[in-house]
Amino acid sequence: NLDRRLVVVSNRGPFTLKDSDKGTDIVPSVSGLVSALTPIINQEGGAWVGWGGRLGKPEDVFGRTLPITNRNNAFFHEVILTQEEVEAFYEGLSNSCLWPLCHNFVEKSIFDIEQWTNYRSVNAKYAKTLLRKSNSRDLIWIHDYHLALVPTFVRAERPQAQLSLFWHIPFPAPEIFATLPWSRELLRGMLNCNLIAFHTESYVRNFLITVEELLDAKVDHLTGSVFWMGRKVKVAAFPIGVDWKEFEAFATKPEIRQKAQQLKQAAGGDYLILGVDRLDYTKGIPERLKAMEWLFENYPEYRRKVTFIQIAVPSRTQVTAYQDLRREVEESVGRINGRFTEDHHIPIRYLFKPLRKDHLVAHYLAADMCLVTPLRDGLNLVAKEYIATNGNYSGTLLLSPFAGAANQLKEALQANPYSPQETAQKIIKGLQMSEGEKKRRLHSLYKGVKEQDITWWWKAIKQAWLTGSTIAVPKT
Ligand code: UDP
Repeated sequence: NLDRRLVVVSNRGPFTLKDSDKGTDIVPSVSGLVSALTPIINQEGGAWVGWGGRLGKPEDVFGRTLPITNRNNAFFHEVILTQEEVEAFYEGLSNSCLWPLCHNFVEKSIFDIEQWTNYRSVNAKYAKTLLRKSNSRDLIWIHDYHLALVPTFVRAERPQAQLSLFWHIPFPAPEIFATLPWSRELLRGMLNCNLIAFHTESYVRNFLITVEELLDAKVDHLTGSVFWMGRKVKVAAFPIGVDWKEFEAFATKPEIRQKAQQLKQAAGGDYLILGVDRLDYTKGIPERLKAMEWLFENYPEYRRKVTFIQIAVPSRTQVTAYQDLRREVEESVGRINGRFTEDHHIPIRYLFKPLRKDHLVAHYLAADMCLVTPLRDGLNLVAKEYIATNGNYSGTLLLSPFAGAANQLKEALQANPYSPQETAQKIIKGLQMSEGEKKRRLHSLYKGVKEQDITWWWKAIKQAWLTGSTIAVPKT
């Protein structure tokens, strides 16, 4: 355990609070980040600062403090936001500017100076709560692109603070990042940290070149160091892992195995193919549907044999780009089913809702193949969860080279998601692969997912943070 206390700060905290006439409902937040960090804070103890989903007036900054564990060694400190802040900071600058920009969708990025001003003041608000709820010996662990200026406000108050930022999305090439009108201020914010962490070496490389080009910072590419304002900032890659034991445990439960069988039967045909994503334009869902359409068109013998289930989790539904995407996806599903439904066999099943973990695992188990074909993705946990669930059984993963996870999951089949033909051909290849080859690939992937799990991730970060040295990421 740490002898210094861990204080986490992220946009959303571990709980979502909802006020009603009867009082305040408190439910665990659902997000990949929250599931990843909860076991760590449970183990280490400490504090977690984040928004709990409640809105207030501009003068309301601090919300409630709630215990995270029943051992009374970890607490959630709630930040209150106003409606305008949610619109400008969260939906605006974070999700309509930084998100598309960092995923290389420059044309989708909205640059609005008022949103930027709001982003800055909301970051100051998080920092204010953080400063009040932590002390100078604590390890302050900041998460994601929503909070890149928090280090600026903390460093100004506490020059000796130990700060680390984990950037969970891709970091783009310098010429793309440079299109952000506030790129330099954002980079300076990040460089107030002692350790900056990304999922892959290529994001690290992009970041180092960007600070060199835009800030004229002195960089040592060999050790991943930036020399900045008299400090040495360590920059390194730590691909996040999954709690494979949890998925393995679900996968052995008789009721989940039975549910998986029912799903397979209900789908009909010989092969069940699965896609699981938030409904986000980075995930390549329309392109994946085009691949399925091309497959049914050009390989008619598969028409009654293949069922594709797409689980699309509603996301950022207030943002126009997401509303447009939903329309496009739903039109495609309708068109494909209209063209290729035969003898009661419906080729595409589409769900627009989140699934409970146990149902999600049942889908992973039922699927002969999982399509993880984002146009761009920081890492992609679904790919690792599919392997963790099926490692002892069977299953084929088709992975986009543009997902961060592709750096580790080398034995997955790969297809360029921008080419529906290539994707369709790789799907066929996956279906026709010999059992021996399927098993060999799956076992190798499973080994990697188990070795670099969530415990490994935190251990590697902690070591780099406390000692300044990194451990190499093995490739599988
Ligand atoms: N997920 C879920 N219910 C669903 C679909 C997905 O809980 O119905 C979870 C999934 O288990 C995974 C996360 O959502 O942990 C998605 O993470 P990923 O890295 O794949 O993508 P992100 O949404 O963070 O871009």
